[in-house]
Amino acid sequence: MQRVLVTGGSGLVGQALQKVVRQSQNWIFLSSKDGDLCSLEDTRQIFKQYQPTHVIHLAAIVGGLFYNMTAGADFFEGNMRMALNVYRCAHEAGVQHLISCLSTCIFPDKTTYPIDETMIHNGPPHSSNEGYSYAKRMLDILNRSYHNQYGRQYTSVIPTNIYGPHDNFHLEHSHVIPGLIHKAAISETLNVFGTGKPLRQFIYSEDLAKLIVWTLEHYNSVEPIILSVPPEQEVSIAKVAELIASEFGLEVSYDVSKSDGQYKKTASNQKLMSLLPDFEWTSIEEGIHKTVEWFKQNRDRIRK
Ligand code: NAP
Ligand code: GDP
Repeated sequence: MQRVLVTGGSGLVGQALQKVVRQSQNWIFLSSKDGDLCSLEDTRQIFKQYQPTHVIHLAAIVGGLFYNMTAGADFFEGNMRMALNVYRCAHEAGVQHLISCLSTCIFPDKTTYPIDETMIHNGPPHSSNEGYSYAKRMLDILNRSYHNQYGRQYTSVIPTNIYGPHDNFHLEHSHVIPGLIHKAAISETLNVFGTGKPLRQFIYSEDLAKLIVWTLEHYNSVEPIILSVPPEQEVSIAKVAELIASEFGLEVSYDVSKSDGQYKKTASNQKLMSLLPDFEWTSIEEGIHKTVEWFKQNRDRIRK
C-alpha cells in the first residue's frame, strides 16, 4: 500500500497539500514537532516509525529577500542538513519515489529568459540568497546521484513565488505577499520596500499542491520540472501591492532605500504545459482576495 510522508506538512505548501488530499489515511504530514530533520537520528526515527513508500520533502528554512540577506549561513546549513538526512533515510528505508522542492530564485542571476529546467547550474545565483540557492541546487545533484548509484526515482519540482493561507506573515522574515498583508492590517498607508518594479510569477499554494499530487502520480523523470503560471501572468510588485492595499482601502507608498533584490526570474512552464495542458490557474486577484480573507479570519493564530 502507498504511504506518503510529507516533511514540512505544517507550512504554507504542506497545509495546502493537506487540504487537497483531504486527510487521506495514506498521507502523513510532519511538522518540526515530530522531529528535527537537521538531526540524522531524528530523521531515521521518523522513517522507522512511518515506513513510507513515497516522500514529499517540503521542510526547509524559508524566507523572503530581507531574511535571506541576513541569515545566509542558517539557510545554507539548515537546508543542506535536512536534504542530506531526508535523502539518506529515504534511500535506507527503500522509498521508491521522492519529490523535493527547489525554487526559481536559485537559477543563475545572469541568464536569458525565460529560464528553463536545464539552466539551474549555468552560473552563480543572485547574491542576496546565495546560501539558500546553493543548498537547494544540491537537491538536484542528490536526485541524479541516487539515480546513478542506486537507481532511485528521486526528483524535484521548481515552484515560483508561492502565496496563500497559512503563510509566514512575519514582518521581517516573510515573502512579499504575506509581509504586505500583515503591514496593511496594521498601517495607515501600505509601505512597499524597493521600487515596486521587480517582476514575479506568483503561484497560489492550492494550485501548487494539486500540481505536486499530479507530479507524484504522473511524472517519472529524475530531471526537475518547473511548476509555474505562464510567463504572461508575471506581475510587478507594484501591482501586487495595489491589490493588497485595495483589500484594506489603503494608499501605497514606496521606500526606495530598501533593496529590490532580483529584478525578475521569468520561468517557462512549457514542460508542464506539454504534459498537463488544461490546468486552471487561480488568478492573482482571486488568490490575493482569498489569502487576505483567510488572514482576517485567522488573525489571532497567524505565523508571525
Ligand atoms: P514554510 O511555510 O516556511 O514551512 C516550512 C516547513 O518546514 C514547516 O512545516 C516547518 O515545521 C518545517 N521545518 C523547518 N525546519 C525544520 C526542521 N529542522 N525539522 C523539521 N521540520 C522543519 O515553507 P513553505 O513556504 O511551505 O515551503 C515549502 C517548500 O517550498 C520549501 O522547500 C521551500 O524551499 C519551497 N519554496 C517555497 C517558496 C515560497 O515562496 N514560499 C517558493 C519556492 C519554493 P514547523 O511548522 O514545525 O516549523
Ligand atoms: P524574492 O522573490 O526571493 O525576491 O522574495 P520576496 O518575496 O521577499 O520579495 C520580492 C520583492 O518584493 C522584492 O523586490 C522586494 O523588494 C519586494 N518587497 C516589497 N515590500 C516587501 C516586504 O514588505 N517584504 C518583502 N519580503 N519583500 C518586499
